[in-house]
Amino acid sequence: MKRKGIIIVVSGFSGAGKGTIMKALTAKYDDYALSISATTRDPRPGEENGREYFFVSNEEFEKLIKENGLIEHAGYVNHYYGTPRKFVEDKLSQGIDVILEIEIQGALQIKEQYQDAVLLFVMPPSAAELRNRLKGRGTETDEVIAQRLQRARDEAVGIENYDYIVINDNLDRAVEQVHEIIQSAHMAPSRNQEFINTIRNELNEL
Ligand code: 5GP
Repeated sequence: MKRKGIIIVVSGFSGAGKGTIMKALTAKYDDYALSISATTRDPRPGEENGREYFFVSNEEFEKLIKENGLIEHAGYVNHYYGTPRKFVEDKLSQGIDVILEIEIQGALQIKEQYQDAVLLFVMPPSAAELRNRLKGRGTETDEVIAQRLQRARDEAVGIENYDYIVINDNLDRAVEQVHEIIQSAHMAPSRNQEFINTIRNELNEL
């Protein structure tokens, strides 16, 4: 039975640790392809073009939108972010699950286009812990941290649109939970209609 690839959308407040979970998940299991987004924000120290993001100019980003090269895009704290279409479509057609680590407006655009997508929201164990993690990163100015905390308040309103929450208290446990959620999703009857029909036909022929 050929398995169909699923789009897994992972959102979470800035600093909730979704990037760390995704890195650990893809290092542990080779079942998943991680989509690399395009963004107009500047690279942080240590980030590389084509690894964390494709860092592009405003003009380049607008060209991508015009050419229908993105499956979703959104503005986030003064910058654009978007998911390149080709990578996602190629992986899905190969039966590979694709993970999109994107914010909530993009997540809702994906849910509209791909009803089959599974949406996860990564939460910190507490709000104070979220602020500590943002400060501890040391790469963000106080002003940007304040903007990101405000954005977290706004995004918290939309969590019920997601299928699952994952609490990032312990990294290994969070990684296992994400893996189990995705593997369980593959076992839904709606994703196995062909197999169900085959067994039904076989039963009728016994
Ligand atoms: P950061 O600047 O911290 O890397 O990302 C800021 C926010 O943008 C995060 O919530 C991240 O998940 C989100 N983001 C990253 N790539 C995309 C994308 O392609 N589309 C959307 N809608 N959000 C994205």
